[in-house]
Amino acid sequence: MDELTTRGPVFAPGHDGYDTERTGYQRLTAHRPALIVGAADAGDVQAAVRHAAARGMPVAVQATGHGLGDPMERGILISTRRMTAVRVDPAARTAWIEAGATWRHVIEAAAPYGLAPPSGSFPGVGALSYTLGGGVGLLARRHGFAADHVRRMDLVGADGALRRVTADADPDLFWALRGAGHGFGVVTGMEIDLMPVARLFGGGLYFDAQQVPDALEAWREWTATVPEEMTSAVTMLPLPDLPPVPEPLRGRHVIQLQFAYAGPADRAERLLQPLRDIGPRLLDTLRDLPYAESGAVFDEPDRPHAYLSDNLLVDDLTPAALAALVHDAGPAAPLMCVVGLRHLGGALSRPPRVPNAVAHRDAAYSLTVLSPAEPGDPQRIRALHRSLLEPFAAHAVGRMGNFLYGPGHDDPSPAGHRERLADLKARHDPAGLFHDGRRR
Ligand SMILES: Cc1cc2nc3c(=O)[nH]c(=O)nc-3n(C[C@H](O)[C@H](O)[C@H](O)COP(=O)(O)OP(=O)(O)OC[C@H]3O[C@@H](n4cnc5c(N)ncnc54)[C@H](O)[C@@H]3O)c2cc1C
Repeated sequence: MDELTTRGPVFAPGHDGYDTERTGYQRLTAHRPALIVGAADAGDVQAAVRHAAARGMPVAVQATGHGLGDPMERGILISTRRMTAVRVDPAARTAWIEAGATWRHVIEAAAPYGLAPPSGSFPGVGALSYTLGGGVGLLARRHGFAADHVRRMDLVGADGALRRVTADADPDLFWALRGAGHGFGVVTGMEIDLMPVARLFGGGLYFDAQQVPDALEAWREWTATVPEEMTSAVTMLPLPDLPPVPEPLRGRHVIQLQFAYAGPADRAERLLQPLRDIGPRLLDTLRDLPYAESGAVFDEPDRPHAYLSDNLLVDDLTPAALAALVHDAGPAAPLMCVVGLRHLGGALSRPPRVPNAVAHRDAAYSLTVLSPAEPGDPQRIRALHRSLLEPFAAHAVGRMGNFLYGPGHDDPSPAGHRERLADLKARHDPAGLFHDGRRR
């Protein structure tokens, strides 16, 4: 059997760097591999896959570890965090993105050309893995899912070969990798469209706990009136009484309305006025901003922690269900809950030029409930999340894989996709080499 020879480092349990390398943003759990390959390039990925296949060891992949599901034991973990190159082709308006690049890397590479990727709320998330799961971005109602903009993915399969997957070269795999793409191999890079977006108008309106019902209802009604240039979301959460939190928000349970508008600032101001009219704001961060600062729209914390979530995609939000959510997930909740709603529709509801595995395009909103978690006892959190989502069941159309955090989740692919995905898995990974962290 061949020895494992790679350009990047290899870590075994007990060696310096092993724990750092396997530890990602999600701290609830971590892979416990027999070996970690810190891949420097596609050749290292191939060497690692061949080494594992020859020994019947499972293979897992990790970029930043935001989306870790069920951890893998005893196999080989391919860590892509060194593969962060991004090459922008300004004339073609595309970027080639290596497997470990975050959206921040891509945003910074694209910005000098007045271009932006279909990135999401948090620029520190891995661009490739986000796209494998569909990818709902800041301007998603205008531009659709990230997966709709993929032109090519390079995949190391179970035989260790590196293949170029495109609409022409391998239409079945190209369909699957864009939306249900985990577990078919290791994608070493992707070519994706960039948008001619240099600036956006965006930020947040923050209201105090007693205004939550009014603000939420106003947002719900307002979403029915806005053009698809406007993408918006809501987060309801308790904030700690600590210095990194802006002073007016410290120690409060707030509702944060979040907006990203792809168009002129004066038009955005007019569209947003009804929401400013809800009442006094604790904080108003709406402004014209370069896309390079788009992380300010959601302003999510970048501190690694342990968390669990569940979600539903719904075709409507009823006032009664929202009222129950506000009560049950608010300050009276038995466990801390962060509730996130995103307005979908627009370009997200239209099929892409080349069909892909993104499901539930009929969803009008996504609803995610998330709680900080301790290792060992997820049952209370899961039970609470189920009860919070229950009032929305009548309008549920499915679940979104990208917003299912932590271990213990089933594959959310709809019945109509499962057979095709299972058939592809059987053809491309008959021995089940690739671990993907979801129960099938
Ligand atoms: C704070 C935060 C904000 C987010 N915002 C958004 C958002 O706005 N929109 C959205 O759609 N999603 C969002 N997400 C979800 C995010 O896109 C997914 O969790 C995504 O999987 C994270 O990718 P990662 O590379 O950071 O995570 P990782 O945990 O490193 O990867 C996740 C999984 O992807 C697979 N994978 C990783 N790399 C490869 C590869 N090269 N080849 C094959 N499989 C691979 C592996 O199975 C891995 O377990 C957010 C998540 C967080 C925590």
